[in-house]
Amino acid sequence: MTTNATTVPAYAAPAAHAPLERTTVPRRAVGEHDVLIDIKYAGICHSDIHQARDGWGEGIFPMVPGHEIAGVVAEVGPGVTKHKVGDRVGVGCFVDSCRECEYCLQGLEQYCTQGMTGTYNALGKDGEPTYGGYSTHIVVDENYTLRIPEGIALDEAAPLLCAGITLYSPLAHWQTGPGKKVAIVGLGGLGHMGVKIAHALGAEVTVLSQSLKKQEDGLKLGADHYYATSDPETFTKLAGTFDLIISTVSAPLDFGAYLSLVKTDGALVNVGAPEEPVALNLFSLIGGRKTLAGSMIGGIAETQEMLDFCAAHGLGAEIEVIGADRINEAYERVIASDVRYRFVIDTSTI
Ligand code: NAP
Ligand code: ZN
Repeated sequence: MTTNATTVPAYAAPAAHAPLERTTVPRRAVGEHDVLIDIKYAGICHSDIHQARDGWGEGIFPMVPGHEIAGVVAEVGPGVTKHKVGDRVGVGCFVDSCRECEYCLQGLEQYCTQGMTGTYNALGKDGEPTYGGYSTHIVVDENYTLRIPEGIALDEAAPLLCAGITLYSPLAHWQTGPGKKVAIVGLGGLGHMGVKIAHALGAEVTVLSQSLKKQEDGLKLGADHYYATSDPETFTKLAGTFDLIISTVSAPLDFGAYLSLVKTDGALVNVGAPEEPVALNLFSLIGGRKTLAGSMIGGIAETQEMLDFCAAHGLGAEIEVIGADRINEAYERVIASDVRYRFVIDTSTI
């Protein structure tokens, strides 16, 4: 690689619903404040699948998904102070924001009023499409990169850049800690990190999964209790139990049923991003002064805090590392809830 703009190997969906295939994409020249990252691993998030299949609306194609990026700095621009060549770094769901609005100034760049610039399926300030982590290299402004602490292997760190922060942020915001009863709905990529982090924060953790198939894993990950939501008795037994429930479910859910499990003054926080709207009887909120909220990833500072927290507690993701030729197969397994618990692409195979 040189300081000039270049093209790099990548895996892309050429069109919505089309299988991903090997291609090349442009990367900009390394600017004053940019770092060139030699990507080692990229996690597969369910959001990649929603977007590659136009589930959230019309996407930009060809699309190179991937916003759970872990790698090593290969080159730095002359103005870079945060990183040096050889540093272990990560990139999450966004690579830029306006840097001026009230949310950017508070470190809540994910809620930028101008809209953050997604790591892929977005247009950068230069008007060019962004391409994500299913690739060998990426050029990113140093302000939108993270330091991956020693002590977390790069492959196990990659999923923290989205799955980890998406659960850490609401768990922190709703003051998870000892004495709090927290339930995580859905034991997939996000959910399994929620169990690990909530447990490390000292909460009493319950998994609410469609079946008991992953019960043994859930308990090993740190859950104290595990229930199948396919069993109607779960909802009578656990009525009014939780201070906080976080739903990570990728499909529409009966939120009224889950709100019945929340204590008075408790909260149900949804982080899942299903493709269809859901209906809700508002009586499930009124009785019990309950909160139904949403949360989206986390800002750069909080993402760094999460990485440092995970390193201090020895937390990484449970992963299945795959070659790039298995991306399409992995997508089908994620959709079938057959992921234990994050697929991570070894980008040397691209
Ligand atoms: P994932 O690995 O597929 O996990 C989702 C889990 O939800 C599944 O493993 C399954 O767990 C459960 N589930 C799936 N279909 C279900 C259904 N029909 N009914 C009930 N439960 C069902 O996906 P992920 O990568 O964790 O992402 C989860 C969702 O969060 C996606 O919609 C994604 O786009 C979104 N997301 C949001 C943010 C954010 O910032 N808010 C960030 C990243 C991702 P069980 O088998 O245990 O039931
Ligand atoms: Zn994601």
